[in-house]
Amino acid sequence: NYISVSKLANLLNCRMESLLQDLKKLGFSNLSQGYILSREYVELILQEYDYRLPDSSKELTPDNVYDALRTPANPRFLQKRPPVVTIMGHVDHGKTTIIDYLRKSSVVAQEHGGITQHIGSFQVITPVSKKKITFLDTPGHPVFLKMRQRGANITDIIVLVVSIEDSIMPQTVEAIKHAKNSGNELIVAITKIDRISQPKQREKAIEKVTNDLISNGITVEKVGGDVQVIPISAKTGENMDLLEEAIILLADVMDIKAENSLKTMAEGWILESRVSKSVGNVATVLVKKGVLQKGKILVCGNTYGKVKNIRNEAGDQLSKAFPSDAVEVLGWKQLPVAGDQVIEAKNEATAKKFVSKRLALLEIEKEGLTVEKLNEQRAIEASKKEQESEGENEDIDEDKEPSGPKNICFIVKADVSGSAEAIVESIAHLGNDEVKCKVVSSSVGIPNENDLKLAQITNATILCFNLNGLPNDVINNKLGVDIKQYNVVYKLIEGVTEILTDNLTPIF
Ligand code: GDP
Repeated sequence: NYISVSKLANLLNCRMESLLQDLKKLGFSNLSQGYILSREYVELILQEYDYRLPDSSKELTPDNVYDALRTPANPRFLQKRPPVVTIMGHVDHGKTTIIDYLRKSSVVAQEHGGITQHIGSFQVITPVSKKKITFLDTPGHPVFLKMRQRGANITDIIVLVVSIEDSIMPQTVEAIKHAKNSGNELIVAITKIDRISQPKQREKAIEKVTNDLISNGITVEKVGGDVQVIPISAKTGENMDLLEEAIILLADVMDIKAENSLKTMAEGWILESRVSKSVGNVATVLVKKGVLQKGKILVCGNTYGKVKNIRNEAGDQLSKAFPSDAVEVLGWKQLPVAGDQVIEAKNEATAKKFVSKRLALLEIEKEGLTVEKLNEQRAIEASKKEQESEGENEDIDEDKEPSGPKNICFIVKADVSGSAEAIVESIAHLGNDEVKCKVVSSSVGIPNENDLKLAQITNATILCFNLNGLPNDVINNKLGVDIKQYNVVYKLIEGVTEILTDNLTPIF
């Protein structure tokens, strides 16, 4: 009942390196491709990858794992579900304005004259075809990066927002790149068309943006491609109906479906979580498949719960939630972490077993070391070594120009692990051939003594994300370590870029 890492990568049809990386995140360190995984471990990995488990009565042979991986969804239960849409684009091109406009027409706002609680997502019913669309309303949030990192593509369609006045800007290019990598379908909304009232000029400007899209590799309908381009104004509402219908048209072509039955083991993702004074732990779950209902047992990360209540963003109790619905779920033992996956367990005993197995795996066998501590130690050792060897090089070739970019070190500290991971992901590639961003450690919580020491040794800046109320003795620490605080990802990225730029050799 064993299977090797390389065989599993092969069965999962994924690259060995990415499997090994994921295994490391799960707490398996130092695995090589020949490492033999026990059934327990294979099951845990399959769960992480969102696959069904092989029948427990069967031997764990590659064939049986393969069968489990290929088990198709029960076609009897497969039904259309609303598309899940993310709006992306350059800052100030109108994302928030579009979301605000749509939110006003959302199902719940229509019924209640407004929304009292943002839960990370809302649904609208389209004006003509009367179909539902789910919009995610905080697309830039690090949780989404984290989910993507874990291979979860919770979005079906990206609406790329491009201002008619500015056309394509750096973040537009980033969004295009992302859409291509994630395999999401794209619709382009050319925004702020009300800013140009003269019809001929407007036509010309739309043409310019369209040509820019084409030169950035977007195959718009004009050149025989399938990407729809809709000129809109979220301010006046002009063509907003066309945008919504374009989404439905695309969703129909994509034939977006999920198992939609109480019998299907439900699955979803946590969009947000909070502690409410009156009802305790609350988490917004975007349902991916199956149906949520009171009494179902859900496992999420290191916690589980029995669904006590399901609510929409107006606080109304719902009896059920279906695929593509985002709802608040009450009843968690501990607060789930945003970006984590939710899966239904058969019963409470299974859920408990699963959670304790996960917790056990997260402890490294050796001396009860946690993954975080071990990583921290390794980072300290590695950076010491690096400095030593840099020192040696200096001794030997004093006059030689240093080859390769200079590493500028950072330590990431965030509110939740999802944010930390996502931030590392989004800054790790920053730099050029002269300076390069290097994250020496990342973890959750207020910077501690170890972080400060590591920062001093590596000459790193500590980047704090969503850590409000840092103690003064940390901010003005005696070691003289620079601590920067952020609550918005792009500000953090800007901050890092600035530090990198400051480290470029000045040109006189
Ligand atoms: P975001 O950074 O992409 O979320 O952009 P915002 O939605 O915050 O919009 C930036 C600015 O452009 C704001 O001042 C908006 O009022 C304005 N804006 C957005 N959409 C439109 C539009 O369709 N027409 C006009 N005239 N202004 C718009």
